[in-house]
Amino acid sequence: MPNTKFIFVIGGVMSGVGKGASMASMGRLLKAKGFKVTAMKIDPYVNVDAGTMNPIEHGEVFVTIDGDETDQNIGNYERFLDIDITRDNYMTTGRVYQTVIERERNLGYNGKCVEVVPRVPEEVIRRIDHVAEQSQADFVLIEIGGTVGEYENILFLEALRMMRQRDADSVRSVIVSYLPVPPSIGEMKTKPTQHAVREANRAGISPDFLIARSEDEMDEPRREKLARFCAIPIKHIIGAPNVESIYKIPQSFEDQNFGDSLLESFGIDPKPANLDDWNELSDKIGTLKDEVKIGVIGKYFSSGAFVLSDVYLSVLEAIKHASWANDRKPVIEWLNSEDYENDPSKLKDLDNLDGILIPGGFGTRGIEGKIMAIKYARENKIPYFGICYGMQCAVIEYGRNILGFDDANTEEMNPEAHHLLIHFMKGQRENANMAKFGGTLRLGSWPAKLKADTTTSRAYDTKTIDERHRHRYEFNNEYRDQLERAGLVVSGESPDGELVEIVEISDHPFFVGVQFHPEFQSRPLSPHPLFNAFIKAAKQSS
Ligand code: GLN
Repeated sequence: MPNTKFIFVIGGVMSGVGKGASMASMGRLLKAKGFKVTAMKIDPYVNVDAGTMNPIEHGEVFVTIDGDETDQNIGNYERFLDIDITRDNYMTTGRVYQTVIERERNLGYNGKCVEVVPRVPEEVIRRIDHVAEQSQADFVLIEIGGTVGEYENILFLEALRMMRQRDADSVRSVIVSYLPVPPSIGEMKTKPTQHAVREANRAGISPDFLIARSEDEMDEPRREKLARFCAIPIKHIIGAPNVESIYKIPQSFEDQNFGDSLLESFGIDPKPANLDDWNELSDKIGTLKDEVKIGVIGKYFSSGAFVLSDVYLSVLEAIKHASWANDRKPVIEWLNSEDYENDPSKLKDLDNLDGILIPGGFGTRGIEGKIMAIKYARENKIPYFGICYGMQCAVIEYGRNILGFDDANTEEMNPEAHHLLIHFMKGQRENANMAKFGGTLRLGSWPAKLKADTTTSRAYDTKTIDERHRHRYEFNNEYRDQLERAGLVVSGESPDGELVEIVEISDHPFFVGVQFHPEFQSRPLSPHPLFNAFIKAAKQSS
C-alpha cells in the first residue's frame, strides 16, 4: 500500500452548510502545497447511483468520464482539484451492499455468516484502499454525506473508526459544523456543535479538526469554548464565515494555518502554499463591473417559493468560468419554459438577455415552451446554446419552422408523431420497455470529430474532442440530409459518422446545440471552449 493519508470529512448540526466547499478547499490547499490529492464521496442512501433520482430531490446528477452518475459534489471536487474523478471514488449504501451480496452469492465469504459489522464497513474500506492504490495520491479526502447521528451513515463512520484502528497515524477526521446566531439572543451559539461532536464520540470518533461554519466571523471566546468542550486543540478549530466567493476559502484556510496543522498532525513538515492563480481569479471576480446577462430556460428550478439552481450547478459554474475569462460579471436569470406556453407574449422579455441557454432535461413538461424560446432566439439573433435536450429541441424547432414538419418531435415527447427527428438510440427502446432505467443511458466520455470551418471547430481549435454524455435519444439520421440541405450544419459527429453530436446554424451570432454536457469539463481556471465562445458572442450582443 502506498503511504497515503486519509482525511474523512463528516457533518455536524445540519446539512447544506458547505461541507463540500470546505472539503474541496482543503483539497485545493493541500494541492497548492505540492501534494497529490484525490476526493471521494459517500452517499448514505440505498440508490446505487444518483442517476434515477428526480433532480428536484437531489440536485444535479454529475457524470464522470467513465460514465458514473454521481452526486454534484464530485463536480465540485473535480473543479477545485482540477482532476478527473472516476466511478471508484463514489459510493452509496446501495452500491456497497450490492457488492457484499454478490460476494456472498459467489461463496466469497467461505460459508461464514455475513454479519453487517464488520463485513459492510470492510467493503467500504476496501473501496477506499482501492482509490489510494489507483490514484497514488498523497491524500485521499473522503466526504461522508449527511450528518453524524443519522442512522444512515453509521456504517461509514464505523469504517472510519476501523481504519483508524488499523493505522492511527494515517487517518484524520474533520467535522464541519455550524454556529447559529438566534436573532432573539444575538449571540453565536456553540452548543449544537458540542452536541454534534459528542454524537461523533458515541460512534467511536474524536474529530481531529473542526471547521466552524457561520454567517459572521467567530470570536476567540467561541473558539476557546469549542476547543474545551469538543476536546480539539484550539489551533485545529478553523473558522469558516460566509465569504463573497467560495474561491476565497483555500486562502482563508491557509491564513489560519489549517494546511500546515493538517500536515503536522500526520508528522509531515510544513510547506508553503502556492495559491497565486487561484487568488488572482477570486480577486478578479470581485472587481468585475460589466455584466453579461444569460437566461437559463428549464423546468426543474421552481419548487414552491424556492429557486433550485442546484439542479444545473455545473452549467451555472461553466457560465461563470467563461464570463470571468471574458471580463464580465455573469448575471443569470432562471426562466421557466412553461411560462412561454401559458403566455407567448413573454417571449419578448428574451430581448433583454445577452444569451440564452437551454440545459439538459427529461420528460414532456415544458418542452413546447423551450421550442418557442429557441425559435425566438434563432429569428432574433440572440446567442443560443443548447445542451442535450436543448440541442434536441433546436433540431425539432428547425424541422418544424424551416422544413415545415408541423408535428416534428422527439419520441420522448410524442412517439406517435409522424416526423420523429429525435428518436430512441439503438437498444434504448428495449431498456425502456423492460423498465431498465438505472445506469442504462448513453453515459460518459465519447469522442467526436468536428467539421472544419464552423463555429464549433473555431471554438475548440481542434479536430477531435471528448465530451461527457447522458441521454437515451438521438438525432434521427433519416432526416439528416433534409435538415442539412435546409441549412442546419452538423458540426460534430461520432468518429464513425453514425451519431450527430453537434448542430449549428451559420448567419447567426452563435447558435450551437450539443448532444453532450460540456459543463462537466469546465474548470475555474480553464473555461470550456464552447461556453467561452457563447459568452464571447453574448458579450458582443450586449
Ligand atoms: N431526455 C433526452 C434524452 O434522454 C435528453 C437528455 C438530457 O438532456 N440529458 O436523450
